[in-house]
Amino acid sequence: MNNLSATDRCVKCGLCLPHCPTFALTGNEADSPRGRISLMQAIGQADVQYTAGLFRHLDQCLQCGACEAMCPSKVPFGRLMDTARVAIEPHRQRSPGNRVVRHMALHLIASPAWTKTLAMALKVHQKLGLQWLVGKAPGVPTAVKRLNRLLPTLQSDNPATPRPVMERRGGVNLFRGCAGSLFDQQTLNASRRLLESLGYRVNVPEQQGCCGALHQHNGDPATAARLAEVNRMAFSVNNDPVLVTASGCTAHLTGYKNLYKNEPVNSFAERVSDILHFLSHQNRAKLQFQPLQKTVAVYIPCTHRNVLRQQQDILDILSWIPGIEPLVINPNGGCCGAAGSYMLSQPALSEQLREPLIDTLVQSGAGLLLTSNIGCAIQLQAGLKERRVAIDVLHPVVLLERLL
Ligand code: SF4
Ligand code: SF4
Repeated sequence: MNNLSATDRCVKCGLCLPHCPTFALTGNEADSPRGRISLMQAIGQADVQYTAGLFRHLDQCLQCGACEAMCPSKVPFGRLMDTARVAIEPHRQRSPGNRVVRHMALHLIASPAWTKTLAMALKVHQKLGLQWLVGKAPGVPTAVKRLNRLLPTLQSDNPATPRPVMERRGGVNLFRGCAGSLFDQQTLNASRRLLESLGYRVNVPEQQGCCGALHQHNGDPATAARLAEVNRMAFSVNNDPVLVTASGCTAHLTGYKNLYKNEPVNSFAERVSDILHFLSHQNRAKLQFQPLQKTVAVYIPCTHRNVLRQQQDILDILSWIPGIEPLVINPNGGCCGAAGSYMLSQPALSEQLREPLIDTLVQSGAGLLLTSNIGCAIQLQAGLKERRVAIDVLHPVVLLERLL
């Protein structure tokens, strides 16, 4: 029925427990990696009752990768959690509101055409002030209200502003991502201009789709596999690197090679790089950045730290800006509670995880927060908005491009 046999690698040492954000909140063993592995073992042996408690303990996992990053037995926790969620899916009874949100999250974003339509609808939604109306209207499902509250203000940005090219270095591809296309056009445009300034020809294939992470982590691996093939095909027009501006998408796209053991997909995954990692290896000797004598807060996403393990890249590329003083608000890890659709499906825990970071951010006195994952940016922006704190949240590439 399912393959949860790798749970046997867990020796129940408990070394992962202090690193687990949900265990830190609830103190319940069943909300820890070790407890969840025990639940998975019971599922694997068909020795379990599909109770609300079982669903809750598994659903409350952020898939943040903190346990996997430090596990001495190399338990592939993320892959096991994906498998467990597939196994429990047929036993669930979802409420109508939950079904609507799940359908929106998983099916609309899987279609590039729907993503475009959604992007246009969101612009109209914000222009007409419907965000306020939905927030106040009676009878709107709680999950939809929460989605409405989390919506960031969509920025307008001019994609066509040209930059002088220093030298020709070849071609790169840009991965848009579903959330990036919807909410973060300015990061995509800034990335394009910065790469062009470095001398790269930037290709953005039209036929690309969502990376499939949401589907993979929410019990729908078939759609995730279909999206992997869509992306492989879309980027097969050349052999240039595929650069990604959201660390959550980078983590999933590079992980294709572990999920799909087929050669064309492996070769595609090998070409994928987070844009910050790619930039950190560039010779930027001919680029000049204006100085910024300011403290700038930095939030390192779990995917950047625990999965890609490239958290230094963000600080390395910020060192290109003279005078800047980056202050990491989560130096010892910790999750903001975004975690893909988690910020919608687990609002209480998600906010409990976010609020201490907002406190640190406010106390830091920084006027700007940089982060490299669109989900985290949305989550932190929403937290700041709720407290009426005016701190801009940007991708580091946007700041770099502004100061170029
Ligand atoms: S998941 Fe790894 S670190 Fe955690 S209890 Fe099991 S073996 Fe130990
Ligand atoms: S993935 Fe994160 S939230 Fe889930 S058990 Fe591991 S450390 Fe805890």
